[in-house]
Amino acid sequence: MQRYFVAPDRFEDDRVVLEGEDAHHLSRVLRAQPGDTCIVSDGVSKEALVAVVAASKERVETKVVEWLAMTSEPAVDVWIAQSLPKGDKMELVIQKGTEIGAARFIPFVSERTIVQLEPKKEAKRLERWRKIAKEAAEQAHRNRIPEIEAPVGWKELLKLAAAADASFLCYEKEDKQQLRKLIREVLDGRPDAAARILLIVGPEGGFTEAEAREAEAAGCRTVGLGKRILRTETAALVGLTCILYESGEMGGAT
Ligand code: SAH
Repeated sequence: MQRYFVAPDRFEDDRVVLEGEDAHHLSRVLRAQPGDTCIVSDGVSKEALVAVVAASKERVETKVVEWLAMTSEPAVDVWIAQSLPKGDKMELVIQKGTEIGAARFIPFVSERTIVQLEPKKEAKRLERWRKIAKEAAEQAHRNRIPEIEAPVGWKELLKLAAAADASFLCYEKEDKQQLRKLIREVLDGRPDAAARILLIVGPEGGFTEAEAREAEAAGCRTVGLGKRILRTETAALVGLTCILYESGEMGGAT
C-alpha cells in the first residue's frame, strides 16, 4: 500500500489533499482513480487510510476511510551523530538508519573528518538527504520521518550530548564499558523506555584520544561495538541496532 507523508495542514477534518510530487506520483505514476486507497501521515500524530475523491497532476483530494494507530515508532529516540564521511556514505547511513528506526541524524565535523564543508553545496546536499529520509520512512511504513540536521561542529555536538539521556561515543579502543549494560542502565530507569540516546560515530580516520577524553568530560560514555573494526558507515547502523534490540524494538511483542 502506497504511503505518503504530508504536512499537518494538509489534513482538514476527514479530508486530506496531496500536492506536488506526491500528487503527481499518485495520479500519473500510479494512475489512481476515485475510490483507490493509500495511506497518508502527517509524521506527527495523524495517519489514515484514505480514498481518492478527485485526482489531477498537481492535486489529489482524498477522504479518510479509517484513522490508523501509529505504532511503528520505537519508544527510544536514537539520534545518530555521524562525522561527515566521504562520498555518498551519508546517504547509506540515512537510508538504512531510517529503515531500522533512527529518530534524527546529526552530521558533524571532527578533527579527522576528511570531507570539507562547502556552504554553497550544503543546502542541496541537505535537501537530498531529507528526500532519502522521507522515501525510506515511507518504504519502512514509519509514522514519522527522521529529522536531518545541518552539519555542526565538534563543540556544538558535545553541547547536544548534554540534552540526551545518554550519549555513547563509539570508540574502537574501548574494551571495558559493555554497551549492553550501558543501554540497560538508561532504559531500566524509564518504565516506557522513552529515552533519548545520542550515538556518536567518528570519520574514516576515527577519533583522536583527545576527542574521546573531551567527549567523556562532556558526559559521553565511550562504547565498543566488538573486536572488529567497522567502517564508519557500518558503525552507526550496528550501534543503532544494538540499542533498539536491547530495547525490545527488534521483533516480538514489546
Ligand atoms: N580508527 C579506525 C577507523 C575508524 S572506523 C581504524 O583503525 O581503521 C570509523 C568509526 O567507526 C570510529 O571512529 C568509531 O566511531 C566507529 N567504530 C568502528 N569500529 C568500531 C568498534 N569496533 N567499536 C566502536 N566503534 C567503532
